[in-house]
Amino acid sequence: RALLEARDLFACVKESGEEILTGLNLTIREGEVHALMGPNGSGKSTLMKVLAGHPEYEVTAGTVIFKGENLIDMEPEERSLAGIFMSFQAPVEIPGVNNYDFLLMALNARREKKGLPALGPLQIFPIVEEKVRALDMNADILNRAVNEGFSGGERKRNEILQLSVLGADLALLDEIDSGLDVDAIEDVAKVVNGMLAPHNSVMMITHYQRLLDLIKPSYVHIMEKGKIVKTGDRSLAYYVDESGYKDIATV
Ligand code: ADP
Ligand code: MG
Ligand code: MG
Repeated sequence: RALLEARDLFACVKESGEEILTGLNLTIREGEVHALMGPNGSGKSTLMKVLAGHPEYEVTAGTVIFKGENLIDMEPEERSLAGIFMSFQAPVEIPGVNNYDFLLMALNARREKKGLPALGPLQIFPIVEEKVRALDMNADILNRAVNEGFSGGERKRNEILQLSVLGADLALLDEIDSGLDVDAIEDVAKVVNGMLAPHNSVMMITHYQRLLDLIKPSYVHIMEKGKIVKTGDRSLAYYVDESGYKDIATV
């Protein structure tokens, strides 16, 4: 079943009107893993931010249907409650918002939407603590403001912590492997593979083979100048590793 379907999607930077997505087509079905590759500046991060409803961008043409609903009309918070999770390439600090309170708030918002009673801080602690351990994070991280003073690697792990506590039908992971050492990438991959079963979906941007060896993509897409110019299986990622992006649309 199609989870997300983007058709002829055009989007620009709101402030300048600069067109970034230029007629993009993409279908993600339940349970699939999609890898998004492509040269710097091709619009990969923009695509994810547009799907997450980032206010910097405006969709100027095309459609995006998520679980049968028009995604474009939904606020970012509604999209998140509907099951879209995005981890940012450069996660931002949220000064003054305690990391643990943030998780609790977001988790209870999801429970409320499902008609489940809210949980108190002590009730969710064991759940969160287990996931902190799985990601080999220091539990102190829960008592600090979201991402404030976190190292690059801690920010990336914190994004995956959010994903693993909150869950998602579609996780959009933007260069989650950059700035992580091998052990951390393995921890992250374990958590992501754990959330995939049985029918959740992932789209991940990466420049590296290692992540794709650990989270095996059903499809690899190459993006160029704001649209997907080629789709293949994992072998396409190996081709990119060997030969780069030159003439890739025609090989
Ligand atoms: P990628 O993730 O593939 O490296 P991006 O989606 O980050 O590419 O950016 C694609 C192009 O759009 C780049 O030229 C970038 O400078 C431009 N761009 C993206 N977001 C903005 C923005 N908010 N303001 C101005 N230019 C932007
Ligand atoms: Mg880039
Ligand atoms: Mg990017």
